[in-house]
Amino acid sequence: MAFEMIKKQGFDVQVIRTNRRKTTCIQINTGIVTIRVPKKLSINEIDLLINSRTLWIKEKLLQQKQLPQRQQRRYENGEDVYYLGRRYQLKVEKTVKERVKLNNGYLHVQIKNDAPEIVRKALKKWYLNHAKQQLADKVEQFSMLIPISPTSIQVREYKARWGSCSSNGHIKFNWKLIMAASDVVDYVVVHELCHLLEHNHSTNFWSLVKSILPNYEIQRQWLREHGHSLEL
Ligand SMILES: [Zn+2]
Repeated sequence: MAFEMIKKQGFDVQVIRTNRRKTTCIQINTGIVTIRVPKKLSINEIDLLINSRTLWIKEKLLQQKQLPQRQQRRYENGEDVYYLGRRYQLKVEKTVKERVKLNNGYLHVQIKNDAPEIVRKALKKWYLNHAKQQLADKVEQFSMLIPISPTSIQVREYKARWGSCSSNGHIKFNWKLIMAASDVVDYVVVHELCHLLEHNHSTNFWSLVKSILPNYEIQRQWLREHGHSLEL
């Protein structure tokens, strides 16, 4: 999970070294810039690559900032919806058979009654189910790095928090988190798991978080600035 950071003027870039790729790829998702590069590429070479794309990166970041923060939802075709930091278009189709699925850039809702509140309900159910799966997977993945497991994991709706951890080890997450980028979800998972060992926000707590996610500040900051936009 550890990655390097390159600081540029106006933005930071997360460097992700991969085995699989021979080519490099720069992505900007919900304001976070990442570059995927082959393992052996030197930091200087990566820096040069970023420099050559600086203009493009800055334009993209600006575009994403200008996206409406909170649109008035009508649950109609063409509206933007987010899942794991990616933007999808909502597609609502009246059908006899009901289901919701991701397909080719669309979050496709097939539904008998396409009244807004019914569509919202179907979407929320879909998000909730996916949040449960994703969060359980991530808890399992990060539990290997922290020598303690939660008593239970629950996903529910909170107005103003992303997760909680009780003194007897019950962890709860806000399902809306699943709209954020995977890195952001990771941060909240690690944050709550670390509370199993440190039930406070002491220096020890933050160094524990940092030992697992060295650049957690980026995700923490992202949640502070953009968390309110994770709405349905
Ligand atoms: Zn906390």
